[in-house]
Amino acid sequence: MPTLNTIQTKQKFYQFIMYLLIFLFSSSCAFRSSGDLHLYDSYFPHETGLIPIPKGKVRATFLGTASILLDDGETQILTDGFFTRPSLWKTAFSKIESDPVTIQSVIEKAKIDHLKAIFVCHSHYDHVMDSPFVAKQTKAKLYGSSSTLNVGLGAGLSNEQMVLFQPGTPIVIGKFTITVLESKHTPPFRILGKTNATDPNHPNIDSPLAGPVKATDYIEGGTFDFLIQHGKNKILIKSSTNFVEGAFDKIHADVLFLGIAQLSLQPILFQEQFYKETIQTLKPKLLIPIHWDNFFKPLSVPLEPNLKLGDDFDGNLKFILKRTSEEKIQVQLLQGFETIDLF
Ligand SMILES: [Zn+2]
Repeated sequence: MPTLNTIQTKQKFYQFIMYLLIFLFSSSCAFRSSGDLHLYDSYFPHETGLIPIPKGKVRATFLGTASILLDDGETQILTDGFFTRPSLWKTAFSKIESDPVTIQSVIEKAKIDHLKAIFVCHSHYDHVMDSPFVAKQTKAKLYGSSSTLNVGLGAGLSNEQMVLFQPGTPIVIGKFTITVLESKHTPPFRILGKTNATDPNHPNIDSPLAGPVKATDYIEGGTFDFLIQHGKNKILIKSSTNFVEGAFDKIHADVLFLGIAQLSLQPILFQEQFYKETIQTLKPKLLIPIHWDNFFKPLSVPLEPNLKLGDDFDGNLKFILKRTSEEKIQVQLLQGFETIDLF
């Protein structure tokens, strides 16, 4: 006859197995993609940029997260340039660093051969990590906050190749005029018990940062949007899902690249205000959502939506598509390396 002790041990064992199964089940859900891109196929232009850029046109190439290459056939400018995209495992449990081979392969595939400037949205690793290496490979200048410039110094860039942001002051590069605007990062969130909120006592990277380092060593250091004028046309690039009230009141943009990560995870009031302060104020003819892809996967395979662990791609798109269709604003999504001629 089994003793009380044996029964209790067996009960504990079954309990442990049950918890383990619940944990594995919920983690496998969390590690699934938060959307099915097949449902949005009609929003992709399916262009690969094989045709030369028509004279006077500006072509955009999407390189994942908030990395966008703009090219008018004479001058190229790039935001971020985050191409290494280390795995989730490596990012969470190990140190990360730029992979020059991956970066070079993206430079070649995207035909980055007349790049003049790289503008970094903020200094989290999924924006800034590879920017100095792209600058080195292409001889382009790196524009950023003091935190970004410290990442540049850590990577061995000279001060002559780096320019500190001066928000509000236009910078002319070829036929592009870029104005850096102060912005705000996506509201902080917790993932596996860790928050990505900036420590108010340590808001910047204040000494040269050289990899390999922990992902958390890349501190935000301020978030910035870019207003880019080319001829009569204007592009606004906004990487983070947040807004500064009234910041766009006197601005119009023909094309808006808009970070939508975690939009539908925010309170409905925030979503409404975000829409009002960005799309409704800028009144773009074309909206291109960005920072929706799972950046733990390489750029060499088709982009997939962010993981359920920290985002809801379907929820984000549902909100954006409903509101933009009411206002008849065209929405396009771009796959990795996919191009679109903006105007
Ligand atoms: Zn960030």
